Amino acid sequence: MIVCKTKSDLRRHLETLGTNPFIGFVPTMGALHKGHLSLVRQAKRENEISVVSIFVNPIQFDNADDLVKYPRNIDDDLPLLERVHCDVVFIPNEQEIYPTPPTETYDFGELEEVMEGQYRKGHFNGVATVVKRLFDIVKPSTAYFGEKDFQQLTIIRKLVENEHLPVEIVACPIVRESDGLAMSSRNVRLSVEDRRIAPQIHKILRDARDLVGIFEPDKLKGFVIDQLKHIPRTKLDYFEIVDSKTLRPIQQWQASSRSIGCVAIYLSDVRLIDNVKF
Ligand code: AMP
Repeated sequence: MIVCKTKSDLRRHLETLGTNPFIGFVPTMGALHKGHLSLVRQAKRENEISVVSIFVNPIQFDNADDLVKYPRNIDDDLPLLERVHCDVVFIPNEQEIYPTPPTETYDFGELEEVMEGQYRKGHFNGVATVVKRLFDIVKPSTAYFGEKDFQQLTIIRKLVENEHLPVEIVACPIVRESDGLAMSSRNVRLSVEDRRIAPQIHKILRDARDLVGIFEPDKLKGFVIDQLKHIPRTKLDYFEIVDSKTLRPIQQWQASSRSIGCVAIYLSDVRLIDNVKF
């Protein structure tokens, strides 16, 4: 596995690998877990070269404290990537990605106005900025994103469409702990007690799936919110039932062939997101 810290180093290395090899790319912010590794495995399986980036992107954090507390663990990340036979790791510093302060502004219309967009101002512009810059550097044929960050995945697809980027976006299923908690780098920040109750979030979403068709979307939404609010030490940002393509809230099940329930909730001071397809 080759580790590159600069754009020029990475380009030089990729150019030694032949003309236009199929490159599968997995952008991450590190503190890797099995969710990330499932994306890397898929990238490896489906391409000639797998490239993983590790960069905690400061401009996608709307909260300075969240950026400071974001887990960083490069010493553990590299052996994990070795174990899944990743070919190239790109670990740029901030200067490499943003030699001057970034000025890009992207417009994702309605897609960025709901859910995460409402609670994390500027978040998706920061995500799109870094992903576009990383795509320009790595030049992947395919890039892999997790469905855990469902709205992010939708926004990235829109970015690729709007900017006519020559990259295929592949959505990868959510990887969970055995008790149902969606894997997340932030989970290590949960206290022992909060880690014990965190799987209730997924359980409530799973139970909600059984009520589709019995309750209309609005009633189901009320039911889920009520259940979530009963988990101790939580503060709910949102639970929304939306069409998985437009991210518009749905009023009737028949109005969408692919609806999804998305939640963002604080457990003490750790913000967790999850979703379930209905
Ligand atoms: P992050 O390091 O949190 O920016 O995540 C990097 C990529 O891994 C994103 O595409 C995430 O959606 C994906 N990811 C994070 N957690 C999971 C998970 N539990 N299952 C599948 N993909 C995930």
